[in-house]
Amino acid sequence: MRLILLGPPGAGKGTQAQHLVQRHGIVQLSTGDMLRAAVKAGTPVGLKAKDIMASGGLVPDEVVVGIIADRIEEADAKNGFILDGFPRTVPQAQALDKLLKSKGLALDAVLELRVNEGALLRRVETRIAEMKARGEAVRADDTPEVLSQRLANYRAQTEPLVDYYGEKRKLATIDGMKSIDEVTADIKRVLDALSESAAKPTKARRKPAAKKAKAKKAAKAASAGRSAKKAKTAKKAVKKAAKKAVKKTAKKAAPKRGAAKKAKKSAKPAAKKAKTAARKGSVKRTRKGAKASSRPAKKVTKKRAKSARRLTKRG
Ligand code: ADP
Repeated sequence: MRLILLGPPGAGKGTQAQHLVQRHGIVQLSTGDMLRAAVKAGTPVGLKAKDIMASGGLVPDEVVVGIIADRIEEADAKNGFILDGFPRTVPQAQALDKLLKSKGLALDAVLELRVNEGALLRRVETRIAEMKARGEAVRADDTPEVLSQRLANYRAQTEPLVDYYGEKRKLATIDGMKSIDEVTADIKRVLDALSESAAKPTKARRKPAAKKAKAKKAAKAASAGRSAKKAKTAKKAVKKAAKKAVKKTAKKAAPKRGAAKKAKKSAKPAAKKAKTAARKGSVKRTRKGAKASSRPAKKVTKKRAKSARRLTKRG
């Protein structure tokens, strides 16, 4: 299992990470702890990070990304890990994505512990008092002044990760204001649901395929609708053309009074043609079209019929 714990300083990430380590047999990778160890050991990374950390600033992305890249290679991380305090910026998250992808690994979930800021200050003050009471060394950055700087950094640089992982559908937000045990139980519920859905390919997992089929069907229906529309338009055009041709020829034929009989006679095959054209174009013939026609009508009708055929073919 590969998890990220997201939350401002004092949200309880460290406490919850410990529970997860025990329950899932995975390692907690805390960049804060690693950097503090590097500072203590006086390594080049430690020397670089020391003053930045003491002032509540952020250590450069390439330094922490390098530390994580090396750490997840180690044997104890093979079973999975919980990232605590990393990623802390969007570029760090992008670097992590790349890193995991290159190793063929995937994140299971990002657990955001949401707390209200007023409570954080009180929590950190309590933590300091408890550490002092136990005779432990207090962190250089655990002072109210530095804490407000760390909080400002969280808001500006880390909080955008809530959207980043939300868009990737990896985020689960947990109310960090509840008691430690309640938060632990809420996290357990989220992770149980996750492994359940991973174990059996239920509706949720089948959904994409079903959705795809539905979309395909809809696209087919839409295209059918489109061609029906096209055919309808073509039909209309044919009807209009036939009507127009008939009208035109009727007008032409009318003044030739003496030729009325002849025209009537010769109109018959033209009308027949118009009828066929109309039928081919699925258009009803008009009575007018059957009666009034002459030679030019024959020509025009023939032409229109041809174009009608072409149109309906296309449609
Ligand atoms: P916090 O309680 O503020 O979450 P951490 O123990 O996670 O503290 O980190 C302590 C300090 O270490 C940070 O204030 C920062 O200076 C440095 N640090 C830890 N993780 C990162 C990181 N991913 N990127 C940059 N700096 C970090």
